[in-house]
Amino acid sequence: MGGLLGRAALPGLRGCPRAPGPSLLPRHSSGAPSWPQERTLVAVKPDGVQRRLVGDVIRRFERRGFQLVGMKMLRAPESVLAEHYQELQRKAFYPGLISYMSSGPVVAMVWQGHNVVRASRAMIGDADAATAAPGTIRGDFSIHISRNIIHASDSVEGAQREIRLWFQSNELVDWTDGGHHSSTHPA
Ligand code: ADP
Repeated sequence: MGGLLGRAALPGLRGCPRAPGPSLLPRHSSGAPSWPQERTLVAVKPDGVQRRLVGDVIRRFERRGFQLVGMKMLRAPESVLAEHYQELQRKAFYPGLISYMSSGPVVAMVWQGHNVVRASRAMIGDADAATAAPGTIRGDFSIHISRNIIHASDSVEGAQREIRLWFQSNELVDWTDGGHHSSTHPA
C-alpha cells in the first residue's frame, strides 16, 4: 500500500518497490514462486470510478506483487447486483446499496496471488469508513459506509462465486511475466 501509515511506519522502505524481492520468495527450479495461488474479485464502485481512483487501486495491488488476470468496466446489471448482494437483501440499506452500485460504471477486476483474498481485505479496510484504518483504501478515501469506494471478496469460496458471476472464463487471462518481474527472476 502506498498510504501514509505504511510509509511512516517503515521509513527504511521509502522509495523501494513494494513487491517482495527475489530472496524472499521460495521458488521452483523454474524460477516461479512455489506458494499456492488464489484469485479474488475486486471492484472499484461507482464513487471510486467517478473520483478517478481506479489507477490508485491498480497501483496498490500491482506494487504489492499481485497479478491482474481480468478487468472490465461495466454498468452492473441489476440481476448481477442482486446475486452479488443476496445476503444483504433483507437489510434496510439494500435498496440504497443497489441504487448506489447502479449509479455509474464499476471497474471489476480479478487479482491473483498468494493469500490474495485475505490480503486484499486488509488492503481495502473496514466497510465502515469510521473504523477503516488510515493507509487502507477505504481509510484513505472514504468517509461513509454507503460510499466506500471498493469491493473485495471476503472468502475464497465467495471469491470463486463472485468471479463466476462477474466474468466469463474466457475473460480471464493466464499469463507469466517472462522474467520481467523482480519477484520471479534473480537480481
Ligand atoms: P464489505 O463490502 O466490506 O464486504 P458488507 O458485506 O458488510 O461489507 O457490506 C457490503 C456493502 O454494503 C458495503 O461495502 C457497503 O457498500 C454496503 N453497506 C453495508 N452496511 C451498510 C450500511 N449500514 N449503510 C449503507 N450501506 C452499507
